[in-house]
Amino acid sequence: MKKENCIFCRIASGEIPSATVYEDEDFKAILDLGPAAPGHTLVIPKNHSDNLLCVDSDTAAKALGVIAKVAKAVKEAMGCDGINVVQNNGEAAGQTVMHLHFHIIPRYNNDKVQIGWEPGKPADGELENTASLIRDRLR
Ligand code: AMP
Ligand code: ZN
Repeated sequence: MKKENCIFCRIASGEIPSATVYEDEDFKAILDLGPAAPGHTLVIPKNHSDNLLCVDSDTAAKALGVIAKVAKAVKEAMGCDGINVVQNNGEAAGQTVMHLHFHIIPRYNNDKVQIGWEPGKPADGELENTASLIRDRLR
């Protein structure tokens, strides 16, 4: 389904032009306009969902296959040493376009692209407590 005034819905439908690298019935992959590195590609489901937290199960199931296929092509085309797949959910997590998308970012040994965090030091018992909270919601 399409959402009014959503830029990625409009790109997915072809209403707004994009540098498209892949398209099938359910997905479009385009070059990012503000790339972290040349070849930075976005995999965009055509059906609108705001992000991964509300995507339908059919789109979710198909997404990884498309991401893997596009990531391999980007790696071959760009000759990079690695690939990050990044996916932001919610403003707090850095999401700026509220239509689900997956970043495929070419990486080179010793490049200056920044994706990361400082590893924390969980207190005694913290991991088990947290795991239990999450497990309860997966039952
Ligand atoms: P995020 O911060 O995860 O929501 O990522 C949104 C991404 O969309 C950013 O990397 C933008 O550079 C990119 N972007 C925004 N508008 C366009 C557009 N019209 N075509 C291609 N990429 C876009
Ligand atoms: Zn949309």
